[in-house]
Amino acid sequence: MDFRSYQNGMPRFTLDKRKPRGRYKTKCPKCGDIKSFVCVVDTTTGEPVDASRFGVCDHERRCGYSCWPTGKDVGGMSIIVSSNEVKKEFLVRDEDIANVIDPEIMLKCCIFDPDAPFLKALSTMFGEEKSILAMHKYFIGARKYFSWNKPVIFWQVDRFFKVRTGKIMEFGILSNEDGSFRDVKRVQPGKNFPEATSPHVAWIHNSVSTDYSLKQCLFGEHLLNQSHSESVINIVEAEKTAVVASIYYPDRIWMATGGLQNLRPEVMLPLKNYKIIVHPDKGEAFGKWEQKISANLPDYNIKMSKFLESKDLPDGSDIADYIIRRITNPG
Ligand SMILES: [Zn+2]
Repeated sequence: MDFRSYQNGMPRFTLDKRKPRGRYKTKCPKCGDIKSFVCVVDTTTGEPVDASRFGVCDHERRCGYSCWPTGKDVGGMSIIVSSNEVKKEFLVRDEDIANVIDPEIMLKCCIFDPDAPFLKALSTMFGEEKSILAMHKYFIGARKYFSWNKPVIFWQVDRFFKVRTGKIMEFGILSNEDGSFRDVKRVQPGKNFPEATSPHVAWIHNSVSTDYSLKQCLFGEHLLNQSHSESVINIVEAEKTAVVASIYYPDRIWMATGGLQNLRPEVMLPLKNYKIIVHPDKGEAFGKWEQKISANLPDYNIKMSKFLESKDLPDGSDIADYIIRRITNPG
């Protein structure tokens, strides 16, 4: 896999070779054939530059008309444009390329904001010192994002310290009647946050570029650099769970898939030679993970943890729920 930044120079002009139905084939200014002229389009707008002049006639030998615009013909604009400005239909995807984000962007966000609900919850449970350590360990960032209340960013940093993307998530703190801390949950429509109209999740790469070839990695993949070949890698689904578990069980390595769909070879490959323990949420997730693993990752050294199955927790609970309950109800 080749890694590159997301800003790439591309030509502004190209022949309009979109699907026949959408093709702007018009009358050739030289031979007059009414359906032989393929015009030149501006890839930033998708519009022909000047269909009466710029383009190439299909009748290469019989007519041979070919006229190409320069920057002057479009008001002195550059003929090389950023791929970020180019309309999607003109972008050529190379499957072997993954775009990456400048690590400076990530490091700038990596500041401990004690008012960001997720970080505040960590501090309440584990103290500020351990929370700050966890923040640096996983490069957790905090940033402004529309009207959301100080969401955090879970960066996906791979074992080469390439920043693949960041997932922006808003959390909210749930309190007991006496005002004490009860839980921290992702803001999404449902009983915990009735005012939420949509799940407050967004991706950093969408805000830096429309031409972004995303190849996700495990949240925490960069921790492989701190491991040795005998290390056991613990996999959970949610980023929050990996962070909470890493503070509670600091001698184990925790990573998150960020979603069941990431239990696939392209994402799991870096763990191929490690012992892996996966921790599905309690209940029906167990069977789903089991199925995914046997279908997608048959030759991986994976054990499935049944730890949660025996705990007195509602279905859908994960390790973080178990830990948070132990901290808030130590009895
Ligand atoms: Zn012609």
